[in-house]
Amino acid sequence: MQRERSVKIVATLGPASSDYDTIRALHEAGADVFRLNMSHGTHDGIAARHAIIRQIEADLDSPIGILADLQGPKLRVGQFADGPVDLAEGAGFRLDLNPAPGDGTRVCLPHPEIFACLEQGAQLLVNDGKIRLEVRAYGADYADCTVITGGVISDRKGVNVPDLVLPLAALSQKDRKDLEFVCALGVDWLALSFVQRPEDVMEARDLAKGRAAILSKIEKPAAVKAFDDILDISDGIMVARGDLGVELPVQNLPPIQKRLIRRSRAAGKPVIVATQMLESMIESPTPTRAEVSDVATAIYEGADAVMLSAESAAGKYPVQAVSTMNNVAIEVEGDPTYAQIIAASRSVDRASVADGIVAAAREIAESTDIRAICCFTQSGTTAVLTAREKPQVPIIALSPLMGTARRLALSWGVTPVVTRTPVTRFKQAVLNAATAAKTLGVASASDHVVVTAGVPFNVPGSTNILRVAPCDERLITSAEAG
Ligand code: PGA
Ligand code: MN
Repeated sequence: MQRERSVKIVATLGPASSDYDTIRALHEAGADVFRLNMSHGTHDGIAARHAIIRQIEADLDSPIGILADLQGPKLRVGQFADGPVDLAEGAGFRLDLNPAPGDGTRVCLPHPEIFACLEQGAQLLVNDGKIRLEVRAYGADYADCTVITGGVISDRKGVNVPDLVLPLAALSQKDRKDLEFVCALGVDWLALSFVQRPEDVMEARDLAKGRAAILSKIEKPAAVKAFDDILDISDGIMVARGDLGVELPVQNLPPIQKRLIRRSRAAGKPVIVATQMLESMIESPTPTRAEVSDVATAIYEGADAVMLSAESAAGKYPVQAVSTMNNVAIEVEGDPTYAQIIAASRSVDRASVADGIVAAAREIAESTDIRAICCFTQSGTTAVLTAREKPQVPIIALSPLMGTARRLALSWGVTPVVTRTPVTRFKQAVLNAATAAKTLGVASASDHVVVTAGVPFNVPGSTNILRVAPCDERLITSAEAG
């Protein structure tokens, strides 16, 4: 499906969006990738949504990306005997390994690894950072804390420990089961929560065995510090502002977001900006002005995708939230300032032949009357490199592999198409490209497109041809004859 904008929209599915009609409406309103959040719901529920997405994909004959988001090592307190407890500022409160229900003086924190690496003065944040505890004294099975910021604490509330690199496995037992389950179902992207070190990404990559691309969620200060190394071995990045804004002061988020987007873009890896983008639309059919501005900023910064969480998963107006993002994107991308910003921030590395070809494709497309850049791609690499160039014409990625096409649904400006006729000769490639451009409605018979490919065909990583081709089949036949 050809969109009117280049930035992509990721929509999380949940109770507000689990039937065929709603998910289809979300896709038609603009969602290019659906996120299945493994922190909520059952495997049966996940499998049912997965099947619906694949059905819609088949009905519309248009590849749709699926991103499964693994919960990761999320820390939680245990339960309380008599319901929620109000912690007063200045009071003492103990966290320990005792599984007995908690009260106003203590509660269980069932993670022995945490106690093993605590430091005096370390801050523990509870319930999205609303409650702040400071460690006064600790042992192997307890931590006596002072309440710095008070508030209500209740069963199974989340705990963040921003100051420490926790000796936690990147993937819990649950994550490993979930990973295997979604890989067997067939998802295109796996998102890893609370990545701390590059090794965490390697661990997931080893388990995924190429069945899904790996996206690292940056939501820990340690991951921000080790970002370059994490980016190196990830296929994509999420600026996960929810937990990142708990672990770091919120005013640190905008510069981090800018830097992460720049680096990811220079590396040619898709980057998603996530969380609270249209938060008020959970309850309201219209967004706040500040939210609209936030979505626009991410697009001006050159993000590949913007994401909806609770807005589409559990809100009252999931389809309107997607339409809002879609409308903001169309407006931003039509602004001449956007083109200037994108051009000024383009990276100029020309390391390989493929880099040179995608840069030339963009320059030719922008200086002449070309309607699209059509790239033949096995692994998706050429399409991703072309996306990095951010040309002003659509990128049509033609691949014989459905998995590649679905993964590319996340990449800026790329419309993925699965080629059904095997391409072994360049003439066939040009014919397929012209047909795809015309079918998608981006070109007519009198137009031209740029075609990039690697010859011999069907060998990954060999992009070495660029051709300006007519979309008129008769001209292709005569021009390419012999
Ligand atoms: P989550 O991740 O929604 O899975 O917590 C995103 C974030 O923290 O921003
Ligand atoms: Mn998170």
